[in-house]
Amino acid sequence: MTGTALLEVKDLRIAYGKIEAVKGISFTVHTGQVVTLIGTNGAGKTTTLRTLSGLLTPLAGTIHFDGRPITGIPAHRIVALGLAHSPEGRHIFPRLTIAENLQLGAFLRKDTHGITQDIQRAYDLFPILGERAKQAAGTLSGGEQQMLAMGRALMSRPKLLMLDEPSMGLSPIMMQKIMTTIAELKANGTTILLVEQNAQAALTLADQGHVMETGTIALSGTGAELLHNESVRKAYLGED
Ligand code: ATP
Repeated sequence: MTGTALLEVKDLRIAYGKIEAVKGISFTVHTGQVVTLIGTNGAGKTTTLRTLSGLLTPLAGTIHFDGRPITGIPAHRIVALGLAHSPEGRHIFPRLTIAENLQLGAFLRKDTHGITQDIQRAYDLFPILGERAKQAAGTLSGGEQQMLAMGRALMSRPKLLMLDEPSMGLSPIMMQKIMTTIAELKANGTTILLVEQNAQAALTLADQGHVMETGTIALSGTGAELLHNESVRKAYLGED
């Protein structure tokens, strides 16, 4: 891959007190790519995304986004630079309406017309959100809430969209719908860093993948390479 990386993570180490959850990882994301981090529970994937978003401060290492260092910058400034995060567990506001939840995703923007257009785009991407725009978000199913979380993250018009476990807890049909939407976003040129337990689906979509194991990157490759890798197939794709 040539050109400057949109996101460049180098030797990143992150600890909770004395426990080091991420032990020196490096990877890059280029504009237009889908890059996935896969791995078992507790491997450090969520911790990594939360640090990239500015919610956690790393022990060591550097993060460059869009050509500038962002290590240690507060979360709201990182969103303003174009890095959006759809968190694990969605964290939508259940008592606010769907439309209000989407508007909150644009909290740093002042272009009312652009915001209205982008809300419409979210409704085009996920028609159920438009049909139920005035209902409380808490009435949505888990999969629909995931759509709302993704729609909300897109409302900041991010240069990089980070999705943490978008398929978690969803029915196979809903999971398929979410994965199809991620493929559509990719086709439209959205750059995505995807954390997934569903390795098959994530690697099928991804240009690049990294397998995280206990705080390190154990293996990296293209999505296709990892899908065909014997140890990945045994450990993550349920093959003997
Ligand atoms: P999961 O899919 O379960 O979220 P993950 O790969 O995203 O897995 P993390 O959630 O990043 O893993 O967790 C990495 C390690 O850090 C785990 O050992 C976890 O127990 C620990 N950890 C996570 N959050 C905290 C916290 N708030 N305080 C202390 N330890 C934590």
